[in-house]
Amino acid sequence: MLLRDRTIDRYAHSRPVIECAQCGEPVYVPEWSEYLDGHRARHLWRCEECGTSFETTVRLPSHAAA
Ligand SMILES: [Zn+2]
Repeated sequence: MLLRDRTIDRYAHSRPVIECAQCGEPVYVPEWSEYLDGHRARHLWRCEECGTSFETTVRLPSHAAA
């Protein structure tokens, strides 16, 4: 069904993709995530290609603080 395919495609494109700093392979899913406070979250990523681990910190919208 066309509508369903289009929805999945849009969802896939809206997902953040992190590139491994070591080998450049895309890493799609954080291995682990935690909320630091109401405004920030930290993600731990691990590249399946080379095994490099790294962290990113993202700022959440301020309305999430409530
Ligand atoms: Zn890598």
